[in-house]
Amino acid sequence: MGNIVSEQAFNVIDMHPAGSDVYRIKLKPRSGFVPPYRAGQYLEILLPGRQPCAFSIASAPSFQQEDIELHVQQLPESQTSTELFDQLNKGRVDVRLPSGNCFLPDPLPETPLVFVAAGTGFAQMKSMVEHCLNQNHAKGIHLYWGARTPAGFYLPYLPIQWSARGVHYHPVVSDAIADDDWCGRHGLLYEAILADKEQLLDGNIYLSGSPQMVYATIDVIENAGFNRKNMHSDVFDYAPRP
Ligand SMILES: Cc1cc2nc3c(=O)[nH]c(=O)nc-3n(C[C@H](O)[C@H](O)[C@H](O)COP(=O)(O)OP(=O)(O)OC[C@H]3O[C@@H](n4cnc5c(N)ncnc54)[C@H](O)[C@@H]3O)c2cc1C
Repeated sequence: MGNIVSEQAFNVIDMHPAGSDVYRIKLKPRSGFVPPYRAGQYLEILLPGRQPCAFSIASAPSFQQEDIELHVQQLPESQTSTELFDQLNKGRVDVRLPSGNCFLPDPLPETPLVFVAAGTGFAQMKSMVEHCLNQNHAKGIHLYWGARTPAGFYLPYLPIQWSARGVHYHPVVSDAIADDDWCGRHGLLYEAILADKEQLLDGNIYLSGSPQMVYATIDVIENAGFNRKNMHSDVFDYAPRP
């Protein structure tokens, strides 16, 4: 069952850079408590005269939650992004939530869970990974986070901390850089998933990022034997293929 959608004013109680162009933002509803939402859902910030701006809720839901976290990329070439940051800097935003059909079911599936994120797609995965850890999901949690360069992992230590709690974390850098200090994986996200196919084949797979990334990944892994029914993404709703 979905939660009731509400519109509310939120105060911006914290906003600081994480990496070069992503801000980690905390919002607190002026009414007191955050309305119920599911791990993986997003909210929309309402700006006058603009389409609603969607942002994944990066915090896991909890009882009587007082604030929520977002990871917002600043896009200097986007007028919407400029107006959004102007509004955030004023310390108050109007928000509609929750939205989105790509969220973790309750109870969690008795399968491995595979989270695949590019860039700020990590925000949606953070909510879901933290929810799984809160629920002591024991069937395996795998996180693949893709960025063009190592600097793109804007919260580099957080998934490493999750590793200590059993999360299998795989950062994947796509740009080939000679002589860099990166000792992790290079390539595309689907190449990393295919390399680990045997452990992931029965899993439920959640993907977040640009539609191009999501569709390229599902096409390749479906051809390799993964079940399309186990793949979940908001992209299927907001950018459906003809
Ligand atoms: C469901 C959804 C969730 C989003 N979550 C975030 C988020 O957590 N952080 C963030 O910085 N931006 C997110 N975005 C993108 C964000 O809404 C827009 O970048 C922002 O509103 C500025 O609008 P724009 O028209 O200038 O950019 P747009 O042209 O609308 O967006 C720029 C690009 O950002 C991509 N994108 C970046 N991050 C995401 C993401 N996490 N999920 C989906 N698409 C993404 C979009 O595919 C698009 O190609 C999300 C978009 C959608 C549809």
